[in-house]
Amino acid sequence: MDPNEAARTLEQELERGRELIAAAGTLEAVDEAKIALLGRKAPISAVQSSIGSLPGDARRELGRRTNEAFAELRSALEARRAELEEGAEDELLRADAVDVTLPGRRPRPGSLHPLTLVQERMVEIFTRMGYRVAEGPEIEDEWHNFEALNIPPDHPARTMKDSLYVDVPGLLLRTETSAVQIRTMESQDPPVYVVVPGRVYRREAVDATHLSVFHQLECLAVDEGLSLADLKGTLEAFAHEMFGPQIHARITPDYFPFVEPGAQMAVSCFICNGVGCRVCGNGWLEQGGAGMVHPTVLENCGYDAERYTGFAFGLGIERVAMVRYGVNDMRLLVEGDVRFLEQFEGVA
Ligand SMILES: [Zn+2]
Repeated sequence: MDPNEAARTLEQELERGRELIAAAGTLEAVDEAKIALLGRKAPISAVQSSIGSLPGDARRELGRRTNEAFAELRSALEARRAELEEGAEDELLRADAVDVTLPGRRPRPGSLHPLTLVQERMVEIFTRMGYRVAEGPEIEDEWHNFEALNIPPDHPARTMKDSLYVDVPGLLLRTETSAVQIRTMESQDPPVYVVVPGRVYRREAVDATHLSVFHQLECLAVDEGLSLADLKGTLEAFAHEMFGPQIHARITPDYFPFVEPGAQMAVSCFICNGVGCRVCGNGWLEQGGAGMVHPTVLENCGYDAERYTGFAFGLGIERVAMVRYGVNDMRLLVEGDVRFLEQFEGVA
């Protein structure tokens, strides 16, 4: 390439470059222009490679002009790129703009679950009567869940039909909070006055009145001279506090291996006041098992069964919630439906 042709090419390329760069409307177009103007196949590169073959003065002159052309095109490309980037940022800021005149979105406050409300209320009633709260593990061993409670290995409650075993021999998900009776008596001397709220597990077919995971509040009192009258009086006091003075507690004979005598505890129906209706049938709603602590259970924990007597009962917290709030299907308590749960906002 002779010096004149090379000089012409530089002029043409500068001209073409100004047009291409001004027309580049996107960052991609700027990249394409850069390749066309400064790439290995660009005319300016051909000029650059021809410089070496020119004589001294012409070589210096063309070299200077080529460098100037490179510098001008580079800085024009960079300026265009910066312009476009700024524009893109403005666009983003505009899209993100906050309308400060709009009202804010207030987060909805949650509320306590009805089972929590009932459990707290139950615990409060018993602690006011002088009981303290005890707790125990939800994975129990067979001694605390069965044997110490006078449930021998051949008892139906021991079979897989009713219990959920874990993958470790001798351990299962506790079937009643009664296991904590044993743990409490093993750890302290009488007198004992404890309530145990907690979750229990059974292999149940789930329906309107049965869940396979549910909650109990266990009560245990061991002292000198306790009788069935103390059990009845405690249940009656609880029923009045929990459901109102018009509700009565009733105990009827029943069998549980860890109590003697054993009883079923029911409260008079909140709908018909004990007359009998569609919900209760005979006027009473069952709340759980009760009875005088079996002497064998006391002895299993090292207590003197000649000197001490005790009573115990286990109330189903779901059942108490159903009576207190008039819930007709136990499954509503665990389904997590907000339409159901939001009815308990502000409820005590
Ligand atoms: Zn009724």
